[in-house]
Amino acid sequence: MKIHNFSAGPCVLPQEVLQKSAEAVIDFDNGLSLIEISHRSKAFVDVMENARALALELMGLEGKGYKALFLAGGASLQFVMVAQNLLEKRAGYLNTGTWSKKAIKEAKIYDDIYEVASSESAGFNYIPKGYDIPSDYDYFHCTSNNTIFGTQMKSFPDCEIPMVCDMSSDIFSRTLDFSKFGLIYAGAQKNMGPAGTTLVVVHEDILGKVSRKIPAMLDYKEHIKAGSMYNTPPVFPVYVSMLNLQWLKKLGGIAGIEKENEKKAQLIYSEIDLNPLFKGYAVKEDRSNMNATFTLENENLKETFETMLKEAGISGLSGHRSVGGYRASMYNALSLDSVKALVEVMSELERKA
Ligand code: PMP
Repeated sequence: MKIHNFSAGPCVLPQEVLQKSAEAVIDFDNGLSLIEISHRSKAFVDVMENARALALELMGLEGKGYKALFLAGGASLQFVMVAQNLLEKRAGYLNTGTWSKKAIKEAKIYDDIYEVASSESAGFNYIPKGYDIPSDYDYFHCTSNNTIFGTQMKSFPDCEIPMVCDMSSDIFSRTLDFSKFGLIYAGAQKNMGPAGTTLVVVHEDILGKVSRKIPAMLDYKEHIKAGSMYNTPPVFPVYVSMLNLQWLKKLGGIAGIEKENEKKAQLIYSEIDLNPLFKGYAVKEDRSNMNATFTLENENLKETFETMLKEAGISGLSGHRSVGGYRASMYNALSLDSVKALVEVMSELERKA
């Protein structure tokens, strides 16, 4: 039976990427496994260079002063590195959920943080708009897609200071003017690859402006100088990410996948809106195309619904423990057919109820 994987991350990856990754673990370079060769070997250096170049190419950022890095430590380490490298006096943060809060908490260790706006009092079910960003701050930080609450920034403010964005859960899913950002980071384990590496895309001009000494492992400049190989990089996650970016390019790049992502989102949200048994969590205008959050209005139907999901091969639909309900994560590699299968179960439940 086909399993429809709606997991929020780590999550579904294209079958062909999984297949090639598995093969490389056995034989990548003349009988040697990808994970037993030197990261300094030509074969792996090529992988790293390809992955870095593809990331910039897909984002339309080649030749524009940006560098792509594949670092370890998860997106959570970027909460720290961003502040280490960029925060001198004060920074502005948009608080749209759990991950923004964590980013703010880490940055506060370094200096004062100003929350330009927050949707916390409404349970983070919308994206604040119309806030001011002081032009004398070091940077502005936002989270493009709130994985847990299912909200997504549909537009970004015009910002005179460097804009830093956590794009962990919607990177490579929609066309954006990526050159609006000074720094973008994203944990691999949603739209890019397995857990273990984080993509950082940074404009070199914004670096080297803080007075503190930065330990080498936390210093973007050191990582850039070393070609993202300051120390042993997470070779397997970088390789899988490279394959996944190649897969995306073949499909027509971000613009190609964006159309599919819109179809999937329209399908699930129209079911949520039409089916009286379900209720969406996020306000309509800010709904995420990646993570659709919803609840089942009648608790008595929970068991029946969950049995039906299981029978249909639908997995990973539980909402985050802090929100409850359900969350359908529809990352790039999830097919429209999987969303159709879920919608079919939802409408079947309505017929039965
Ligand atoms: N930011 C966002 C938007 C996320 O969804 C996540 C993880 N789900 C993180 C940051 C943290 O990522 P990591 O576990 O790689 O540190």
